[in-house]
Amino acid sequence: MKQKELSRLKKAINEAVLIDENKLADEIKAIGFKCRRCSQCCRAEYGDNTVAVFPFEIKKICETHGLKPTEIILPAPSQDVDSQGNIHTFEWVLRKKEDCVFLEKGLCKIYGCRPYICKTYPFYLLDGKLMVSECGGIGGPINGEDSMDIALLLKERYIAEIKETIALLGKFRGFKSGGEGNICVHDSEGEHWMSNDTDRNR
Ligand code: SF4
Repeated sequence: MKQKELSRLKKAINEAVLIDENKLADEIKAIGFKCRRCSQCCRAEYGDNTVAVFPFEIKKICETHGLKPTEIILPAPSQDVDSQGNIHTFEWVLRKKEDCVFLEKGLCKIYGCRPYICKTYPFYLLDGKLMVSECGGIGGPINGEDSMDIALLLKERYIAEIKETIALLGKFRGFKSGGEGNICVHDSEGEHWMSNDTDRNR
């Protein structure tokens, strides 16, 4: 099962590197997009503002802003439970105080190193195809250069997602107990156990 999934992901990565950025940029230009700087995608009152982050993005944010992982991330919610009742999840998400923890007076405090998901919103790739989330900026004017910037970022993000999943699967040993705590995040670096009832540690 694991080998089959790894083969599928390796095929996906071979296809991902062949994605035509020019074609992607043309699609983005045809859809149109202009960020209105409304910050709705960062705020809770306008819908799901969950931001999933890769381990390398967590490191970059922490190093750049002098923060600890415990200050900025939490395990993503999950229904997966092992035989001992421990929760298992496969993602980290940015902390929220309803709104994203980094939103201040309508501005992103980590703008220069915000995660891919923020840099590329409202676009994402699903099975290599361009998808668009709800956003008031859709349909706005965008030039060729900006369309290309988004296309390149989308391709980078898509390849990073597949690489992270391959690395995660390589380290995954199933939903087993064994660590300290009752929540386990499985990521590309292995298992991270922490307690559900205290401030979580990574
Ligand atoms: S990291 Fe920045 S851009 Fe991303 S949701 Fe938080 S405030 Fe918004």
